[in-house]
Amino acid sequence: MDVRAAVAFEAGKPLEITTVQLDGPKEGEVMVEVKATGICHTDEFTLSGADPEGIFPSILGHEGAGVVVEVGPGVTSLKTGDHVIPLYTPECRQCPSCLSQKTNLCTAIRSTQGQGLMPDGTSRFSLNGERLHHYMGTSTFANFTVLPEIALAKVREDAPFDKICYIGCGVTTGIGAVVNTAKVEPGATAIVFGLGGIGLNVIQGLRLVGADMIVGVDLNNAKKEWGERFGMTHFVNPKEIGEELVPYLVDLTKRGADQIGGADYTFDCTGNVTVMRQALEACHRGWGQSIVIGVAPAGAEISTRPFQLVTGRVWKGTAFGGARGRTDVPRIVDWYMDGKIEIDPMITHTLALDEINKGFDLMHAGQSIRSVVVY
Ligand SMILES: [Zn+2]
Ligand SMILES: [Zn+2]
Repeated sequence: MDVRAAVAFEAGKPLEITTVQLDGPKEGEVMVEVKATGICHTDEFTLSGADPEGIFPSILGHEGAGVVVEVGPGVTSLKTGDHVIPLYTPECRQCPSCLSQKTNLCTAIRSTQGQGLMPDGTSRFSLNGERLHHYMGTSTFANFTVLPEIALAKVREDAPFDKICYIGCGVTTGIGAVVNTAKVEPGATAIVFGLGGIGLNVIQGLRLVGADMIVGVDLNNAKKEWGERFGMTHFVNPKEIGEELVPYLVDLTKRGADQIGGADYTFDCTGNVTVMRQALEACHRGWGQSIVIGVAPAGAEISTRPFQLVTGRVWKGTAFGGARGRTDVPRIVDWYMDGKIEIDPMITHTLALDEINKGFDLMHAGQSIRSVVVY
């Protein structure tokens, strides 16, 4: 069938909005009418050409929400009319990783997904007979897409697509890093580096679990108001403190009789390896955990003195907030619908598909927290 899509033909070029062909779902697959999709930094990372694993031509987009319109043979957990959020990290519940209950990094379709293909090694998208690649297994920059059943979270039907699409990446990544990866406890102190779309979701995750002190660090003073909107208690602009950042933060987080500073938890949401080191070293000795969320440039490496780890600091990373998508994403939708977390204020721009390149421009200019395309 013909569908409308924003196609990434080449790295570094704007997306082209055009009509492409989509084949129906095969065994274990589901066709979804995408109702809304966010534009995430990872789409930009790939489109820019910085992603060494980027494949072209492809249909980007991984932060969607929509409705099941057709199911292929063998699909048991979904039916036509179900509301769903696509999962770039699937949950098969059968592979060693899923069964381990120690990670959300399901391996069921990993190799083909990385090649921009469906699990049978082919693509459902084409243009005039030429293959177009899938992206992150989701390709939500098309008004219809096909995904494996295991890559769809079924969600409640009263939740608005143009808001819950953000749960498909940014919201879950930020809140999940707090709840699943760090397992932050009430009363904790935390520092969040980088107050973009992910950082703000880390902040509201920290508020959700009852952290006492939530410090936000950003070079842009305009982010102070944004952070406070979601629960940040202290703001630090490294350019304005007149001293080194790490000792400043350690001092700021001093608590208890021994007056040893450092946060119980720190979160890097910048992808900058210098900031990752600062985040680790701003942790409390003995137990502080630093969570790496940001995606670093290709080939970048992190460093610190081993002494930092020997004295009890823990360095961890997280992908998709450690969330098991089919299990955890519906719960996060409930949290939104119950008012426990906010999404609406973070969606600063709503665009039509024809305007999708404007969403990338707004991101480059730092003018948006999240732009959402509504089909
Ligand atoms: Zn994303
Ligand atoms: Zn699995």
